[in-house]
Parts: sequence; C-alpha cells; structure tokens
Amino acid sequence: MSLRPCRVEVSTGALEENFRFLRSLVSPDAELMAVVKADAYGHSLSLCAPALARAGASWLGVTSVEEGVAARARCPHSQILVMGGLFAGQGAACIEHRLAPAIWEHWQIDELEAAASSFGAKPQSVAVHLEIDTGMSRQGVAIGDPAPGALPLLLKRFTDESPLLLDGAMTHLFAADEADGALTDQQLRRFDAALGLIEASGNRAQWLSVGNSATILSGQAEPIVARATRYGMKALLRPGLALYGVTPRFSPEDPAPVKAARDRLRPVLAWKTRVTSVRAIAVGTLVGYNGTFVATEPMRVALLAAGYADGLDRRLSNGFSLLVRGERAPIVGRISMDQVVVDVTEIPGVEPGDEGVLLGRQSGETITAYDHADATGTIPWEVFTRIGSRVPRIAVRTDGTADASSS
Ligand SMILES: *Cc1c(COP(=O)(O)O)cnc(C)c1O
Repeated sequence: MSLRPCRVEVSTGALEENFRFLRSLVSPDAELMAVVKADAYGHSLSLCAPALARAGASWLGVTSVEEGVAARARCPHSQILVMGGLFAGQGAACIEHRLAPAIWEHWQIDELEAAASSFGAKPQSVAVHLEIDTGMSRQGVAIGDPAPGALPLLLKRFTDESPLLLDGAMTHLFAADEADGALTDQQLRRFDAALGLIEASGNRAQWLSVGNSATILSGQAEPIVARATRYGMKALLRPGLALYGVTPRFSPEDPAPVKAARDRLRPVLAWKTRVTSVRAIAVGTLVGYNGTFVATEPMRVALLAAGYADGLDRRLSNGFSLLVRGERAPIVGRISMDQVVVDVTEIPGVEPGDEGVLLGRQSGETITAYDHADATGTIPWEVFTRIGSRVPRIAVRTDGTADASSS
C-alpha cells in the first residue's frame, strides 16, 4: 500500500557526517554520547541510532527505559544511558537490556538492587551514572547547602558487595548557550566539589559526563576534558541538536566557532507532503474554519496533506509560508487537523501531486526549524519533536532518493 504523502525524509548520511564533524571538535581523549531521546529528536530512533553507532558513537543517550529497550533492539553493542532515570518497577528491564540509568535517589538504588538480586547479578556488575545537581534544580543529588550530607550518603551505597557499579558521574549544563560562560563556570566548580567527594569515598567512576551541543560547538569542551584527566576519568560529552544539523543560538550572539560550525553541519530531516487539489476562488470566498481568510481578489489555492495532527502548529495559520515549486506559498485560513490550504496564485502550473515542503529545501528555497520556532515562539527542539508520530520517517540518500535500508 502506498502511503498518505505527508512524510519525513531522514538523511542518515548527513547524520553520520554531523557526528564525525562534532567528534573532530573535541579531544581524542573524550568520547561523544549521541543523544537520541524522544525518537531521535523526532528523526526516528530506529533509523538514527544504528547510523550513529556506525559513525562511531559508542554511547547512546535516551530518556526512558522504554526508549532504551528500543535502542538496544537496534544497537546490540552500544552502551546506553537512560538520562531521565529509572522509575519504580523498571530495574529488571535495565538489567535485562544492559541499560545504564542515571540515578540520584536512594529508592532508585533500592529498585536496582532488588532487581539485581533476583537476577543473581555479580557485585559491581550493574552500571549506573550518578547525576549531580550543579544548579539546574531538575535531576541529580544536591551538593552543599542545605543538604551537605546527601552525596556522601548516596556514595556509601556503592560498597564492594553492591551489585551496582558507579560507572559515571554526570551533570547537565543549563546555560552553555550563554556566551559569557559564567553560569557554566559555577556549575563546573560545583561539579568539582562532587568529584572530590566521589574520589574521597574511594569510588572510581570511569566517565565524567557533561556537556551538550552548545558546549562542544563553542569550544567549551576543553575544561571538561582537562577535569576528566585530572580525576583519572574519561570525558563523555552529550550532543543532541547539533547531530541533527542545527546549532543552538547563543546569547547575546553566536561565538565565531559556532558560526563556522553552522556552515559545516548538514540538515538531516526534510518534512514533505503533496498537493491534493487546486482550486480557483472568487473575490469574497472564505477559506478554512470560521472563514478567517477572505479572498480580496481572484486566487488559486492548493490543498496540502498536512495538518496540526502531523505537527504543523496551528498558530502558523494565516502567518507562514510553505514551499511549492520552489516558491513560498502563504498559508491561508486556519490549519486543519489533517490539511492546510496555501495561496499559489503567484506560482504558475501548480497541480495535484506536486511536492510541498513544510521544513527543508526545495530548489533554492529553504524553511528551517528556526523559521518554525520563531513563528510559534518556541525552539527547534520542540519543532522537531512535535512532528506527529503518524508521519512516517523514511531514510533517504543524500541525493533525496529512498534508501533501500529504510524501514
Ligand atoms: C537533551 C540532553 C542533552 C543534549 O542536549 P542538546 O542541547 O540537544 O545538545 C544532553 N544531556 C542531557 C541530560 C539531555 O537531557
């Protein structure tokens, strides 16, 4: 059966190139964890995770145990970190599928220990990454006031007999896209304090896991790699967005290396559909729900198979353009659940079956994730992850033809 034409094309070749480029920006002493949470930022975990493993990613980062199980099915040899931590009842799945969860609560350790004993796991055989809250107040064990004893107490749980292995220490930088780096410096100083306590407890974690796309692109990875060396650990940086070809925007402005990287990274995703039908409308004709658009002249409008249920934000109604025949076609009227109408009066020859591009390139014109994000008051991360789950993701070669390995 052929499919409804609304689809996402994924260039796994571009993804692999982006991974290798990011790899080239950091010291050979460090490793990169490819972040593939949320179905690889909407790009399809099952297409992207194997491609990233092929490109040399030894670690994959997912949000949940469920995502970890899906990644494990595709990547039998990768190390997989469950960055969102494990929930009650998920210890057994972590062990069975060899997923390393981020942990920072005693009950998470209880959960894993109970599962490990039911599996008869050997001492120090279940890897976990201990998350430190260095200032984001989201995940991780707090360090310093008001609970200075919290981290030492957690560290006491990693005894020689415990089935758990403290494989990594991690934290998340929440302002790596701020060019002055002051908040990041503060976070790294707190992380130092935590690493000191870990060392003092006699534990030896292998991985020092810090840093996102902004960290790598702006050249801030060096202090992290240096810290890892100082503690006899290995730096593990965790890029997400940049893998998919988009650079974070820095405030107040992009540092020079970020601008240079923007030209090197290649977009991975193109979101496309087709024209279903074309009609001529007379002056005074209403378009779409509640007639929010009224034709003030004779027009030609084209119906495209894509709507807000596919992730095309309804706030783009009457205020954004899509591409048809390499030209910008303004959205007219309200975006429907499954369809959208565009003005093609100025674009000659549009007919049913023509390709429409919602995000990506057509001839010389491009619509970027930032175009969508700016028009709806959000960020590219959300634009990608809101593309609907009913939209099939199809692997394409760099030249845009279907890839035989597509699924
Ligand atoms: C999402 C995420 C990343 C990747 O962030 P990007 O800004 O997309 O590079 C890294 N680490 C953690 C813990 C995350 O949740």
